[in-house]
Amino acid sequence: MSIRLYNTLTRRLDPLPEPPGPVRMYICGPTVNARAHIGNARPFVIGMWLRSWLRARGYEAVFVHNITDINDKIYEAAPGASAELAERVTQWYLEDTGAFGLGMPDHLPRASKMVPQIIRFIEQLIERGYAYAVDGDVYFRVALDQDYGQLSGQRPDQVEEQEPNPLKEDPRDFALWKANKPDEDTWWKSPWGRGRPGWHIECSVMAEELLGTEFEIHGGGLDLVFPHHENELAQSRALGHDFARIWAHNGILRFTDEKMSKSLGNVVTTDVALEQSSRETLLLLFLGAHWRKPMDFSEETLAQAAARGDRLREVFRNESVPAEAAVWDRFAAALDDDFNTPEALAVMHEWRDHDLLRRALAVFGLESLAESEEVPVEVVQLAQRRQDARSNGDYTEADRLRGAIADVGWEVRDVPEGFRLVRK
Ligand SMILES: [Zn+2]
Repeated sequence: MSIRLYNTLTRRLDPLPEPPGPVRMYICGPTVNARAHIGNARPFVIGMWLRSWLRARGYEAVFVHNITDINDKIYEAAPGASAELAERVTQWYLEDTGAFGLGMPDHLPRASKMVPQIIRFIEQLIERGYAYAVDGDVYFRVALDQDYGQLSGQRPDQVEEQEPNPLKEDPRDFALWKANKPDEDTWWKSPWGRGRPGWHIECSVMAEELLGTEFEIHGGGLDLVFPHHENELAQSRALGHDFARIWAHNGILRFTDEKMSKSLGNVVTTDVALEQSSRETLLLLFLGAHWRKPMDFSEETLAQAAARGDRLREVFRNESVPAEAAVWDRFAAALDDDFNTPEALAVMHEWRDHDLLRRALAVFGLESLAESEEVPVEVVQLAQRRQDARSNGDYTEADRLRGAIADVGWEVRDVPEGFRLVRK
């Protein structure tokens, strides 16, 4: 049986194609106006795990995760210096997500690097009558899309107004291109004058440029269903592109600890979370919640996750009790059925077979729990990069990284599920 995922568009579990697929996946990344909080890391972590599981199941999987570095929020956050802010926050995001030790997505496109392609896409929409220019802006004609509202479950005639502007033909129309305003310090030349793309068209174009006009999975937080994803779908369909087949929306992370929010000002950024808890604890917190459900971040839930880590480590301090190979099927079935990680974790907690448990932990970047000593995240990152180099056939780089790992006192061993790090 193939893997099934819940699809917001069809409101049911839909199957992925049989392996090897391919499975092409686009998950909306951050708008880089401020350092990301730990909730913003959820789509990244889920995407990396899903790619890891798909590859373990024999799929060719590609993960694209964009950086929205042109956006109203960035202009507002840094008047006159938006590009510098976007660059700084992008680097923070790459550092923070890298510190989970899960490796990186295959592509991390930035909107600012795709403006010519975005302009071409908008020109095609205008040629087909789906868009119109007014006063340096360009808007999408929502009235022409019969299926508009399908993703977010709204009747087309009752869709709420977006981006109010008296010059629009219809209050529902949304911006594809926005004319440059005096306080906006970045702009690009276009057939409609100086300006910059709207948020939704950036993602349609980045997804199609890297994955093609039709691909298997489009993900992002539940808060993106409307208007962001509804508009992405409308734009791409208007050009006759099928776009994403399965729309996978993750639940929101909630800061439920009053004491914690008071001391930290309502949100905990990813770097602070990684300072206060180990990466294993944070990953086990994510693992214990179903990806579609909301999840609570508090001292209590962190303590529960840390306790799970202790229980798993304890297994490796005792004798291995071999299990029958068939028990792997229950673990696999949980992940194949809407990527049910809490169920998979419950199965893992029953195991005393070291090899089996290590293989399962490796799917989630948690193989370090099998080591008697905690492996520093920098060493895990080196081992990840070495694994990437090997899978790209770059053995010179792989050897160099093996040396770099040895220099800091660790030995990397290749095992069927990936790698093991052992103190030298
Ligand atoms: Zn997006």
